[in-house]
Parts: sequence; C-alpha cells; structure tokens
Amino acid sequence: MAFNQKAFEKIKKDLEPYKAKLVAVSKKKPASDILEAIQAGQFNFGENYVQELCDKREEVKSKGRWHFIGHLQSNKVKSIAPFIHLIQSVDSVKLLNEINKEARKSDRIIDCLLQVHIAAEETKFGFNEQEAEALMLYPELSEMENIRIRGLMGMASLTNDEEQIKKEFTSLHYLFTNCRLMSMDPEGFDTLSMGMSSDYKIALDCGSNMIRIGSMLFGERDVR
Ligand SMILES: *Cc1c(COP(=O)(O)O)cnc(C)c1O
Repeated sequence: MAFNQKAFEKIKKDLEPYKAKLVAVSKKKPASDILEAIQAGQFNFGENYVQELCDKREEVKSKGRWHFIGHLQSNKVKSIAPFIHLIQSVDSVKLLNEINKEARKSDRIIDCLLQVHIAAEETKFGFNEQEAEALMLYPELSEMENIRIRGLMGMASLTNDEEQIKKEFTSLHYLFTNCRLMSMDPEGFDTLSMGMSSDYKIALDCGSNMIRIGSMLFGERDVR
C-alpha cells in the first residue's frame, strides 16, 4: 500500500478545527496511488507537470479534482484548460492571459491562485508582494472574463527554523487580506493555499485554508 491511510486520518483530524481543505500532491507517484486515495475519500489532487497530469487523469478517469501547482508554461495551458479545477501557480500576467484565452475556448471560467514568492531561496517562481498587489488593480483584469482569481499560494523556505517559516506565512496571510480588499470580487477571493508536509501545522495557525501534502501521504520522492 503506497497511500498512507494513517497519515491521511491524522491530517484530516488536524484540519478539522480550521475548516481547511486538503490537496493531496501526487506528483511522481503512480495512478494506482491516486486510486487508493480516492477509495479512502480524497478527491483533490495536486500535480506539477502537465504531461504527467494528463496521463494519470486518463488512467484514473474523471473521478478526481485536479489542481495544478507547478510552474506552468503558456504553451501547455491548452492541455489542461478543459478540466483543471484550480491553477494555483499563476506567476505572470502573460500566463493569466493565456489561461483566460484557453478557458474561453473551453467555455469555462477557470479558478486561479497567484503564486507569491515568500521564501528566502532565490529559485522559486512567483510574484513578489508588490507585484501581487499591483496585479489586483490591473485594469485589464476586468476584461478577463474567463478566469477568477480566488486567492494566493506560497511556499515557505526549506528550513527547520520555525520562526522563519512563521514569519513568511504570516506575511502571506497579511498580503492575502490586503489583496482581498483590492479584489473586484472579495467574496470569491477566499483561498489561501499554504503549508506542505513539513510545515502545514504552522501554516494553519497562520491562516491557511488549503494545504498541499505530498510526501506525508504518498512517501518520499527524489524531487521536491
Ligand atoms: C511538491 C509540492 C508540495 C508537496 O510537498 P510535500 O513536502 O511532499 O508535502 C506542495 N506544494 C507544491 C507547490 C509542491 O511542488
């Protein structure tokens, strides 16, 4: 059994008081693991690579809800636009335009989160805080009728320093509150996706309402 039922129960229990949602991150894991998770009652899955996502979705049929959480290239948007539930990793206006265009072709409105760079590490994708706020007020946004910006997503630094992680999550929560005030649709701006296997408890205490858990549910991978 590759899906850790015990860990699943524990995470669900931890989530209860916060009314937060769980996205099971199944990247690099086989479709059979996803089917086990579905059997256990988990329906939201996060994937980082377009081809891998499309292949596995074929295998598990249409039972799951798919979240895209990796860096998304504009030319790959069309492959996921017909079915994706939430694109959590929007990191440029160009990408947002492309999602809007492909969503229109599929006659859909696609929910998106802006990925914000909060970690100390240099390599991660995402807007900085100023860019995210500027985007909320971007005039062309009101013309993008086939996307809905539902909130923010971020990853804390890879560190054991809990204070550092707490500081980063707290600043993302603060930014989330500010962006909601700027949103054209504050009611719909309701999702703050932060927290992974190693730091989800800190994230929940800092205001997260969606956590993305991979290794704790499916075991270690060779890449993050
Ligand atoms: C891989 C990944 C996760 C899950 O990480 P774990 O540490 O395995 O829980 C969450 N979010 C993003 C964006 C990821 O790429």
